Amino acid sequence: MKCPYCSKEMEKGLIQSPQELAWLEGEKKHMISRASVYEGSVILSRFSYFKGSAVTAFLCRNCKKVLVDYADPASDFNYRKKN
Ligand SMILES: [Zn+2]
Repeated sequence: MKCPYCSKEMEKGLIQSPQELAWLEGEKKHMISRASVYEGSVILSRFSYFKGSAVTAFLCRNCKKVLVDYADPASDFNYRKKN
């Protein structure tokens, strides 16, 4: 993936956490970090008690940016395809 700021190739990696990974609206830290509690939230990786959470992320060391493409559900390491 090319960096949208400088167009250099980004490094593929991941962000992981023992908790759910979610983008939450606002500028203040929330008391409860569950997306289901806040309208407009975006879950980046669903919570798994045994595996924790992880999402694919791309790094640009030049711009010091991290990009998560949540349009691809497979970027969530806990995503399961429906059969
Ligand atoms: Zn860049």
